[in-house]
Amino acid sequence: MRRSRIADYAQRHDAALRHLWPLGERIVSRLAASRARAANGFVKRPPLIGIGLLALSLLTACTTDSPGLSKPSSERLPSESAPPSPPIQTASRTPEPSASASSEPYTQEATLLAVGDIMVHMPQLPAYYNKAGDRYDLRPWFSQVRPILQTGDWVVGNLETPIAGKDLKYTGYPRFNAPDELAAAIRYSGIELVSTANNHTLDRGVPGVTRTLAAVRKAGLIPFGSSASATDQRRLVIEERNGIRMGFLSYTYGTNGIPIPSGRAYAVNLIDPDTIKKDIAKLRQADADVVTVSLHFGVEYQRMPNQEQTKLVKELIRSGADIILGSHPHVVQPYDMIEISAAESRDGKARTGIVIYSLGNFISNQTGSWKDVGLIFGVRMTKTTHPNGVSEIQWNEITTEPTWVHIIEKQKKRHYTVIPLRSELKQRSFAELTAQDYAKMKTMLKGLDQHLQRLQAS
Ligand SMILES: [Zn+2]
Repeated sequence: MRRSRIADYAQRHDAALRHLWPLGERIVSRLAASRARAANGFVKRPPLIGIGLLALSLLTACTTDSPGLSKPSSERLPSESAPPSPPIQTASRTPEPSASASSEPYTQEATLLAVGDIMVHMPQLPAYYNKAGDRYDLRPWFSQVRPILQTGDWVVGNLETPIAGKDLKYTGYPRFNAPDELAAAIRYSGIELVSTANNHTLDRGVPGVTRTLAAVRKAGLIPFGSSASATDQRRLVIEERNGIRMGFLSYTYGTNGIPIPSGRAYAVNLIDPDTIKKDIAKLRQADADVVTVSLHFGVEYQRMPNQEQTKLVKELIRSGADIILGSHPHVVQPYDMIEISAAESRDGKARTGIVIYSLGNFISNQTGSWKDVGLIFGVRMTKTTHPNGVSEIQWNEITTEPTWVHIIEKQKKRHYTVIPLRSELKQRSFAELTAQDYAKMKTMLKGLDQHLQRLQAS
């Protein structure tokens, strides 16, 4: 069942690429320009391995049997019964195959998948409470997206609630507190990294931050964006997959007016361009091949990014960020490719960054006006290492799998399932969906596919 779903995802991927074709055509000319730039003296001092050239080769890589997608991920991810592997957060390098031993360049591939806001409003809980065990089991929320998320090498989500313990009572808006079982359910879904910098980080104060970090780590998740101490804040989150080292950073515009206590600035990372630039530089110094920055920004319920967002994103990509994952508006905003010329780039090298301005809600009780639609955003990349040790990253594909939070009431309790729209419309395998649901899903998918490209048309 799972394998067939993964194989099918690869096919859907192909469909997604056809959908991206107009973007692809634009990219052909960019790619030619990038190659010309590379020929014109892209030089990097060996043996330092880092990002050099970000070329786009969307059209050259769109096969359905690409290893990054068709490979079942069960080899990498812990199974349901096995305990999750401990998080790896290290700046030290794992030795790679010796570049000098090979006279040919070699390539490695990996895929980033990202989802948006993971929220817990109180109506989401009762159906999942087991009185006998006095526990929740929230895993059913993610049963339908799990086969897709498990195909990612890095899988990221925005945890928009503290997990501050039962004693403080579970609460929804405006000051959230979700049960520990949420962390286990997130890990079960295939998500491995959680951005924890957002306007709800401090809903339960600094103790809530510390408690949340402990809970997510216990579940095998890797948090980034909030910290339990100044030392904790200095840790570099770099995760290597298939020989590609990706660094993760996260920042929020604010904390809903809850002041950060003096001396506790480490608790949550706030958006400050100078700080972010320094943090990007630190990841580069630690040999990150790719730097991914989560930004909790924008205006709630606005479907297009504002000038503040576009300006900040451009500035950060100029300064070395490669991928920007936006969240906070609770609706999906489009993605874009940002080209930076050598003259604009802080390190003098032309580069292309990828931004998704808002990933929308992944799970929540919010409905209507696109609030129940989210996105699994994918970036597949290749690292090419040359015999002299110089390496470069190429973007191969961008993939989009819109999701919908299906809510059904049974015995006065609400049941929630995140539905991957493209996939489910093809398979029609989820028994709870009606013909009416499928019709609605079709309209949502069409609308979101168009919406996602709105910045490409300009
Ligand atoms: Zn938010």
